[in-house]
Amino acid sequence: MRPLRALAIASEMAPFVKTGGLADVVGALPHALAAEDVELRTLIPGYPEVLAALRAGDSVLEFDDLFGGPAWVHAARHHGMTIYALIAPHLFAREGGLYAGPDAVDYPDNAFRFAALAWAGAQIGLGALDGFTPDVVHAHDWQAALAPAYMHYADHPRPATIVSIHNIAFQGQFPKELLAPLRLPPRAFAIDGVEYYGAIGFLKAGLQFADRITTVSPSYAREIETPEFGMGLDGLLRARADCVSGILNGVDEEVWDPATDGHIETRYDHWSLPARADNKAALQKRLRLRVDPDAFLVGVVSRLSWQKGLDLLLEILPQLMRGRAQLALLVAGDKILEEGFAGAEAAYPARVGAHIGYSEALAHMIQAGVDAFLVPSRFEPCGLTQLYALRYGAVPIVSRVGGLKDTIVDANEMALQAGVATGLQFSPTTADALAMALREAERLFGDADAWRQIQLCGMRTDVSWRHPARRYAALFRDAVAANVA
Ligand code: ADP
Repeated sequence: MRPLRALAIASEMAPFVKTGGLADVVGALPHALAAEDVELRTLIPGYPEVLAALRAGDSVLEFDDLFGGPAWVHAARHHGMTIYALIAPHLFAREGGLYAGPDAVDYPDNAFRFAALAWAGAQIGLGALDGFTPDVVHAHDWQAALAPAYMHYADHPRPATIVSIHNIAFQGQFPKELLAPLRLPPRAFAIDGVEYYGAIGFLKAGLQFADRITTVSPSYAREIETPEFGMGLDGLLRARADCVSGILNGVDEEVWDPATDGHIETRYDHWSLPARADNKAALQKRLRLRVDPDAFLVGVVSRLSWQKGLDLLLEILPQLMRGRAQLALLVAGDKILEEGFAGAEAAYPARVGAHIGYSEALAHMIQAGVDAFLVPSRFEPCGLTQLYALRYGAVPIVSRVGGLKDTIVDANEMALQAGVATGLQFSPTTADALAMALREAERLFGDADAWRQIQLCGMRTDVSWRHPARRYAALFRDAVAANVA
């Protein structure tokens, strides 16, 4: 049997460009799926960072005019993977971020930038490349989600299609006047087409036409079928419930391994847990916290947005500071929250250390040095940082939503007795519940044996891509079989 051929389409991919967990997943899947006999190639935009990393390669597909300028697909090999970069200087050769300019305002032509990505992916799906016609096209998030729609309206035999939702808060909605400019036929503007609340919905279109829909945890798959979490798409998802499933993300075990991590002071594994003390001291120094082995050091590595619930941490800070807690924060995003955390550092010197910005190295130091790792999200499709925390022996304290609910075993009485607890969960995502969870965690931290057991249990949890990759491969095969039938 020949390997299944799959094309992923995504707007970001680690290690080239990353704004969040999506990039990690897209970067990890090719290798993870190779072990399942799936040859996964990935189409991403040719941003400057991507082209700098993928200089060698060939042009394999050309477009005279792709939404306002010439474009071509550049095929390159990188660590055993085949990457297709869509080079379209008029769309992707920009100074700012992936989605917004230096002023943090979305690019005005994002509809065309990502329609171009989806269009190129659809052409590859329909057989435009010599020697690689995918059996399945896997579109990630709204930026890729027009691909199944383009293939649907092409009236041509097509591969199986899958759309994965990494965060339903981002949907890609654009004015209906763009229908023809986006190369969509008039009949597409319908409730069973791309129409969404009077506009064009990219993610909506993908969810309408994909053979299978996935999201990144079983709990989030159920949550987004409700009005509370579905953000307007819950009705469509309920209608397509038979095609929706949740597959957890794994972690890149080579990048996130305390036994080999080059970013941390002292490497360790579950046999040498006391060595974490060196990392705790190094982190305390790095963030100008008091070097105190007995302090209850709580870490956060996060984007700052309403989703992440970190405004609640600011709210309860005075309470938390009454105990022995310290905070190690690596955060960036919402300006008001950034100011809030900078202010917290000033108000509690040596107790709160906040690095505002992005730092891969510090993210690793925090995982290796903190006692507990906090993720108080209001919603969380999967979440990766709590998985890194498990590997690093930092005890996750998480809100009971989405992937957080699915990946952490709460240290309730029975779980502690049975020796299966890996962290603490709290619900609802409110200041009071968060304060209570932190108090409970600090109490448990005082019981060194119980705490060590939770740490070890977390470190033994399998957070690799092995299991998720098997599920994706099965889903791909299932979608292909259904498409052929
Ligand atoms: P989301 O994709 O919603 O931001 P995830 O938990 O799925 O949340 O993924 C976040 C990823 O981004 C993790 O790899 C995390 O370590 C990283 N990250 C978030 N904020 C920062 C930061 N300020 N500096 C370094 N890495 C960060």
